[in-house]
Amino acid sequence: MVAIGTDKICAVVAAEHSSSMWNQLTQALRQTRTVELRLDWLRNEREIHVFLRRLAKKRPRATLIATCRRREAGGRFRGPISSQLLILAQALRAGCAWYDLEIESSSKWTAELLDVLLGGGRRIASAHFFRTSPANQRRVVADLWKTRPQAIKIAAKCGSLSAGVQLLGLARVKRNTIVVPMGDVVLPLRCLSLRAGSALTYAPLENATAPGQASFDTLKNLWKADQISRKTYVYGVIGNPIAHSLSPQLQNAGFQARKMDAVYFPFLVHDLRDFLGAVKALGIRGFSVTLPYKQEILRHLDSCDPLASAIGAVNTVVVTSAGNLYGFNTDYIGVLGSLQERVTLSQSRVLILGAGGAARAVAFALAQSGASVCICARRPKEAKKLARAVGGLEFPRSRLKSEFFDAIVNSTPIGMYPKTENSPLSARDLNCRLVFDLIYRPVTTKLLQLASRRGIETVSGLEMFLAQGMAQWEIWTGRRAPAAAMRKAVLDALRTETRTAQAKP
Ligand code: NAP
Repeated sequence: MVAIGTDKICAVVAAEHSSSMWNQLTQALRQTRTVELRLDWLRNEREIHVFLRRLAKKRPRATLIATCRRREAGGRFRGPISSQLLILAQALRAGCAWYDLEIESSSKWTAELLDVLLGGGRRIASAHFFRTSPANQRRVVADLWKTRPQAIKIAAKCGSLSAGVQLLGLARVKRNTIVVPMGDVVLPLRCLSLRAGSALTYAPLENATAPGQASFDTLKNLWKADQISRKTYVYGVIGNPIAHSLSPQLQNAGFQARKMDAVYFPFLVHDLRDFLGAVKALGIRGFSVTLPYKQEILRHLDSCDPLASAIGAVNTVVVTSAGNLYGFNTDYIGVLGSLQERVTLSQSRVLILGAGGAARAVAFALAQSGASVCICARRPKEAKKLARAVGGLEFPRSRLKSEFFDAIVNSTPIGMYPKTENSPLSARDLNCRLVFDLIYRPVTTKLLQLASRRGIETVSGLEMFLAQGMAQWEIWTGRRAPAAAMRKAVLDALRTETRTAQAKP
């Protein structure tokens, strides 16, 4: 059986105009030699012919897969099956070695007739399920092979990781099987499908052509999908929402700098049990925990670091080879990493704004370092509870203007992207030597701007984010984190994000 291209990450090229499609193809070929041409995305048959004529002239040296999916199978092509087949035949003459034909079209023709019409090409027989995974997946696979193709593809929407894991199981049955789990919850499976044996994974260069796709850049450069193997150690971050997290940039930069065979994914988790049920099947060795699961995860651990237990929140989990879960809290380390060298904590008086999960880590870290801790929160009862837990005091907002603190720490989300104009305190409230804002998006919040203007030293949440993430990395790997590379990756991502936001009209 002939393999489908040497590069396992297939760039999906899809545009309405032949010139944009050509630009995407040129761009794709700089990074991979396996490309799917979504001819059905071109706005009409004229554009398709213009594109294919250009392809026939240039004949790039690559494995090209021609797809002209009809609307009934989730594509954009409006013409009849006969036109679809004629276009695919033209694509083969223009240099495509493979074509993808959906079961809705191929089932209307015999394999012999398809051979006569498109005999020069190798066929991927495909089936798509955009709403949910089919109940009898093995039957679908058998039906696809019955049409005598050279490869098959089954793409299915998966609403849970367990459904995704089940789909991946199909990849191992026979060579040249492509499995495509679709949906935000199974995003990392776009990469892990290769490890499970899928012949290809698809990634759009620009335009998403299916739900929950990872971009080509993410698959190739962040996750290094083409290097993934059964030996690769898998890590991730769980949360909801999760798309904004910079932890994948931070952690993967660490693995890449130390040349480790490991990868870190973002997992959008709606149901903690679903994620935990997939840990073993996906070979996950450890994961970070973020909102809203830092407390809930405690109930599922086999053991927990005493400090994390006392804080009542876990942001780091180690999975042992026996499948046991151990919890830690590195936010605590992040707080100390950000403040220790700037404030003599043992002799300091610190005000913490907020009484949520992060505030708890801040309060414990500071109290254990000998600081006198005051808690100010919009719900005084919560502030009192936290103050009592760390031997501190609840502090009413009305007294802010008249009291001095060595440091004020914002542990509320006020001022976080996108509401960057907000600040939890006014300039007059800032009677202190240092202001530490836990928020790191934006790096310089409104609160920090107000403090700077008054000549007060400022510390961004970025420092804590980096320190807590590096501590996680060290817990998992037992090695020293490559700090410079990890910091650079996050700063680069933040810079790119700022540039993109500024470029938007
Ligand atoms: P959380 O558990 O939801 O707690 C948020 C706290 O802020 C609660 O006390 C909440 O009060 C209070 N709050 C929320 N909105 C408020 C408002 N409009 N006015 C007054 N108080 C308000 O969240 P968290 O996990 O502690 O996270 C807090 C912030 O820290 C977030 O911005 C997060 O991104 C940041 N953080 C940063 C790092 C880092 O590494 N830099 C790590 C962890 C967290 P109620 O209980 O009354 O709602």
